[in-house]
Amino acid sequence: MEEILNLLKQLDYKDLIANHILTAAIGTITVYNINTKIQKYKIKKDYNKKTTILKPPKLVLNKDEVENNFDIEQLSEQIRDDLKIFITTIMNRREDFDYIAFLNNLKTLKIKSVNFDRINIIKKLLFKQDSKILGAYSSYNNLIELSKDYNKSVFFHELFHTASSVKTEQNTYIGFAQRPSSIGVGLNEGYTEYLTHKYFYEFEEVRDSCSYLLEQLIAKEIERLVGEKQMEEHYFNANLLGLITELEKYNSYKKIINFIKNLDFLCKYRVNNLVDEDMIINKLNSVSNFLLECKINKELKNNLKSILYTDKAEEIYCCIKYIRHEFSLFIENEEKAKLFENTIISLEALRAIYNYKKISGKTR
Ligand SMILES: [Zn+2]
Repeated sequence: MEEILNLLKQLDYKDLIANHILTAAIGTITVYNINTKIQKYKIKKDYNKKTTILKPPKLVLNKDEVENNFDIEQLSEQIRDDLKIFITTIMNRREDFDYIAFLNNLKTLKIKSVNFDRINIIKKLLFKQDSKILGAYSSYNNLIELSKDYNKSVFFHELFHTASSVKTEQNTYIGFAQRPSSIGVGLNEGYTEYLTHKYFYEFEEVRDSCSYLLEQLIAKEIERLVGEKQMEEHYFNANLLGLITELEKYNSYKKIINFIKNLDFLCKYRVNNLVDEDMIINKLNSVSNFLLECKINKELKNNLKSILYTDKAEEIYCCIKYIRHEFSLFIENEEKAKLFENTIISLEALRAIYNYKKISGKTR
């Protein structure tokens, strides 16, 4: 602990990343010093806090000539080339899409080279994590910080944050996350990393990256539900509320908010070993049930007249089996992982639910 405190003293707190780590460190040291009961209580309280999802402002292209301290010529050749690859790929992807947030942010974007060594040591000491921080984006300052040994995967991920951030006087909207409430961080990180893979899979550095694996998997399932174009549109417009409205076709508002919070919880606590595994398993279970419910309700909505419902039930069953299997890979305890994977509603039971809901016309 003393070693950590010494390292913390040496950080330059004006740095964005140093600030992040400081907050995390204070949180962690506090959690280590209180007993599990209080810790659980704190998490529960945090969880039950009422969260209002805000509607993002209408995006308007900023036509003012802003003084830009971002001079592309000043960047290293590597950064310049990668930035060009990103912009061309994004712009060519959808011709019907205007990327207003991105165009506005590009005008004032700052990119800075930062040394993350000390921070990475602290991270390792605190969280026993070997993964290194190689980049960060601050939507507040519209600033990307990159380590000297950054790779394309890191830079593109941060550029997706840049392309999906909108700031107002009181709030910041970053893709599917919102501040100051901090809701949606898990879904946002997962979808950001998933988009990085989807758009830039041709690059080895991207293929090799394994950040936010669980969050990616879940974000991908949500995209399957609402459709690729819709999901991307809401993301680039920083419109979490729009996505929620879309999901409300398949589940209740309350359950959707719970799902988003569960994913935030998993994103925040899973890798840092801060809570016991049963709490993680519990959240994984809730998320997988939420996805199952949405899938059933979507099928019911789309196929009310279809007589092939048994095939559909089988399809949903396979899907949910796959999700349980993939989720189980994130459970360290082998026995518990097996149990989690095998605790799956039987196909017969699923058919029964499907039939029941179909007959009673209940889609909610
Ligand atoms: Zn990120």
